[in-house]
Amino acid sequence: MSAAIIDGKAFAAGLRGRIATAVERFVAQAGRKPGLAVVLVGEDPASQVYVRSKGKATLEVGMNSLEHKLDAATSQADLLALVGRLNADPAVDAILVQLPLPTHIDEAAVIAAIDPDKDVDGFHVVNAGRLAVGAQGFVPCTPLGCLMLLEDRLGDLSGLDAVVIGRSNIVGKPMAQLLLQKSCTVTVAHSRTRNLPEVVRRADIVVAAVGRPEMVRGDWIKPGATVIDVGINRVPGAEPGKTRLVGDVAFDEAAAVAGAITPVPGGVGPMTIAVLLRNALVAAHRRMGLPDPQAL
Ligand code: NAD
Repeated sequence: MSAAIIDGKAFAAGLRGRIATAVERFVAQAGRKPGLAVVLVGEDPASQVYVRSKGKATLEVGMNSLEHKLDAATSQADLLALVGRLNADPAVDAILVQLPLPTHIDEAAVIAAIDPDKDVDGFHVVNAGRLAVGAQGFVPCTPLGCLMLLEDRLGDLSGLDAVVIGRSNIVGKPMAQLLLQKSCTVTVAHSRTRNLPEVVRRADIVVAAVGRPEMVRGDWIKPGATVIDVGINRVPGAEPGKTRLVGDVAFDEAAAVAGAITPVPGGVGPMTIAVLLRNALVAAHRRMGLPDPQAL
């Protein structure tokens, strides 16, 4: 293996430490803690784990965590009414509605109901639009975390060739927008892209956000490229009945060629919650008319 390992776990821990310090300053200035409200509807086991981790991380940096756990049978009208109350609540700076929602609820309608200035997931169309035109708003947490890892590793990204594989609204598209903002030459590849290995071979930066285990092979990678693997895929483990997590990139093969690469787990994954806390703190500052906290 020749690639440097990009340690997202360590970077995220450092970011959470800087956030905790900035929260103390905010409390001294505003006279209250920032508040992040998380809404969970139903009992999806993965969502329950995420919500628990988010709540714990929120309290650890000194912010208020306001959890709303609703029954799976909650009506869309009741959920929208709760979002309305959170929008109006001055103690709530940030709102996150955990996805996926039960199938009887229209996710787009719920996201559209969140005040864009409290939408710390950055999923509201207003925030997607702000990102597209380069205005101040909130950027989805996972791609913003990827950008932080890239800038930490590479510094100025200007002029680099970047290939983003995947065009979802929560990862691929905002990732492409962020890289474009940093003056990369950006290609967005997807399920209909022709000659994907050839397209990826041009890239100085590869961001894989597909959801297909180890799809990106080592011989797709340009020597020295920086590889960010967003994929989280559970596959059968070595022992019967056991599973393990792998990314969208064949790690060992790619690490033999790349200049730097994120592992799975321990790469992009830990960044998502840390960036959520960062976005919540930024939302609190903006709501109080304070300048954005620096160095986050
Ligand atoms: P998605 O299913 O919404 O989008 C997948 C994208 O991959 C689509 O745009 C599709 O066009 C593209 N694609 C599918 N097959 C392809 C192929 N054969 N070749 C090229 N492109 C192809 O997925 P998503 O929500 O963007 O998530 C992608 C992956 O990232 C998943 O593994 C998900 O679990 C993971 N993820 C991780 C985090 C994190 O915190 N680390 C956050 C979000 C998503």
